[in-house]
Amino acid sequence: MTLKVAIVGRPNVGKSTLFNRLVGRRVALVDDTPGVTRDRREGDGHLGDLDFTIIDTAGLEDVTDNSLEARMRRQTEAAIRDADITLFVIDARVGLTETDRFFAALVRRSDKPILLLANKAEGKAGADGLMESYELGLGEPIAISAEHGEGMADLYQFLRPLW
Ligand code: GDP
Ligand code: MG
Repeated sequence: MTLKVAIVGRPNVGKSTLFNRLVGRRVALVDDTPGVTRDRREGDGHLGDLDFTIIDTAGLEDVTDNSLEARMRRQTEAAIRDADITLFVIDARVGLTETDRFFAALVRRSDKPILLLANKAEGKAGADGLMESYELGLGEPIAISAEHGEGMADLYQFLRPLW
């Protein structure tokens, strides 16, 4: 059975960039439930010898009305419910925001594995955000750069034991 890995986090942290880096072939554009899975993308993910289904919770960037929080919560909860492993992404350059803390509180309730990814940490960037992210209570953060492909070996090290 192929494991499902969901990428969650507030808009603009780099979820889709990470999705694009991990995905080989896009398998589905799910749009059956308005406001929940409308913009969700699924693909065949690969990292080293690990093959998985990867889920990007995308498109929330365009939603600016006051139901944003509710939509994000529903979509995130659905993705986590569906997934075997959740990748919770923050922007290490920006540091923690209220929205990150809101999301972290949601995902902490899950009894399935969650990996905390501090993205945009290419070079020495994001060192402060990386340290700050311990506050989320999601364990040890993994510094990555989805854009530049850094930290992928570290991500592999954390994922491998979950197989
Ligand atoms: P999403 O809204 O979480 O899906 O975020 P996107 O993947 O759309 O990325 C948001 C912005 O962050 C884009 O301008 C990306 O180019 C940028 N970005 C994503 N990953 C990185 C990274 O590793 N380093 C830097 N510096 N920028 C990144
Ligand atoms: Mg996106």
